[in-house]
Amino acid sequence: MANISRRKFIQMAGAGGLLAGFPYAASWGSQPKARVVIVGGGTGGAIAARYVKALDPSIDVTIVEANPRYTTCFMSNWVLAEMRDLDSLTHGYENVIARGINVIIDPATTIDTEGQKVLTQGGQSIPYDRVIVAPGIDFQWDAIEGYDAAAAEIVPHAWKAGPQTELLQNQIRAMDDGGVVAIVAPPNPFRCPPGPYERAALIAYYLRRHKPKSKIVIYDAKDAFSKQGLFQAGWARHYPGMIEWVGGFAGGKIERVDVAARTLYSEFDDFEADVLNIIPPQTAGRVAINSGLTDASGWCPVDFRDLQSTLARNVHVIGDAMVSSALPKSGYIAASTAKVAAVAVVDHLNGREPGTPAFFNTCYSLLTPQHSISVSGVYEAGTNAEGQPAILPVGNSVAVSPAGADDSFQAREARYAASWYDNLVDQGFG
Ligand SMILES: Cc1cc2nc3c(=O)[nH]c(=O)nc-3n(C[C@H](O)[C@H](O)[C@H](O)COP(=O)(O)OP(=O)(O)OC[C@H]3O[C@@H](n4cnc5c(N)ncnc54)[C@H](O)[C@@H]3O)c2cc1C
Repeated sequence: MANISRRKFIQMAGAGGLLAGFPYAASWGSQPKARVVIVGGGTGGAIAARYVKALDPSIDVTIVEANPRYTTCFMSNWVLAEMRDLDSLTHGYENVIARGINVIIDPATTIDTEGQKVLTQGGQSIPYDRVIVAPGIDFQWDAIEGYDAAAAEIVPHAWKAGPQTELLQNQIRAMDDGGVVAIVAPPNPFRCPPGPYERAALIAYYLRRHKPKSKIVIYDAKDAFSKQGLFQAGWARHYPGMIEWVGGFAGGKIERVDVAARTLYSEFDDFEADVLNIIPPQTAGRVAINSGLTDASGWCPVDFRDLQSTLARNVHVIGDAMVSSALPKSGYIAASTAKVAAVAVVDHLNGREPGTPAFFNTCYSLLTPQHSISVSGVYEAGTNAEGQPAILPVGNSVAVSPAGADDSFQAREARYAASWYDNLVDQGFG
């Protein structure tokens, strides 16, 4: 054990510790009541871990995470507007560990749902009584001809924050004034439904100051999008003539890309741009697919009452990876589903029947640093018109901010967006 004594390591493991590259050792010492393993320590996973531990400290809680630090996607569009830097969106696991949660930095390769073990790239085999699966998203690399993981190193998606965000920012900064930025928006369902349209606004905010003759064109697989009326009114007001949206009905669905020529091809036409940002169609994180937790949709079906997988026992899936039904794939919903799953897991492990959950969403999108619009809603498990289990909005609770709201209202929403961020991150990493 380099640089760490065995005694010190046992202290860390006992109190919850960072266990990179070590065989699973968290149950050394007194026998825990049960072992809960969380695959993916992002927004959903970190919050689920905290709640399980807080609700029943006698449960041994372990996060298995691929990276030593987590960069939030939310607010990564703010980086493109030079309002935040990536460092300020990046969080370590020190506070998670201080709460008595074990953190293993080692990508999970599969969840052996029969043997109830999480297997890792580093060769670890981590047993569990319940596992909470929170790996976020992956991309359908075969959906747009010419766009695969290698092409994304040249033409970024920037839909996982970090180096991809930097690559997109550098390309926009290097573009000449008068250039065209093309954003390719994916079909539903995908991570952060308002995200591509907030991105257009915040790139426009940068361009208006630095390259005012430039344009942004959004090629969309869809015929409509989240908060559409509010976004289009905001673009027209703050960036007149700068942002164009081409819906699916007008040929916006991109089928092929020539990365070298920076050219997009739809069924009807081809489009050249100076900077391309392709956000491909998505699925649940690869580890969920490899573990047999996804259905034909590419997402993980769950019982909406306790978020238990319908395909494997003692497995719960939260956040973006689950079949969302009416829930948007948002950070706030990742937090909400994390809490629902944490309560359900603790109830199951203590022989109690989980209660009836509700899910909450609030999501702000900036038009400029001083103007924000929002959507919020409350949801519950129920049955849809076809008699199938579904998550449904409660009454008229799903609403967007009022059209035509004045500047002071939108400025207040922009301030709320900043405190929303701090609160959300604090729940998992604070
Ligand atoms: C540009 C953009 C803007 C956004 N803005 C907002 C916003 O304003 N409001 C909002 O609510 N949401 C927003 N979102 C959406 C939000 O980021 C996601 O919905 C949220 O991060 C989902 O949380 P999650 O825990 O499911 O997944 P993630 O946050 O992606 O966490 C998944 C974690 O799992 C880890 N992981 C993956 N595979 C493995 C593996 N095999 N082994 C171990 N670990 C693994 C990853 O490293 C990661 O840490 C935005 C997204 C984007 C892209």
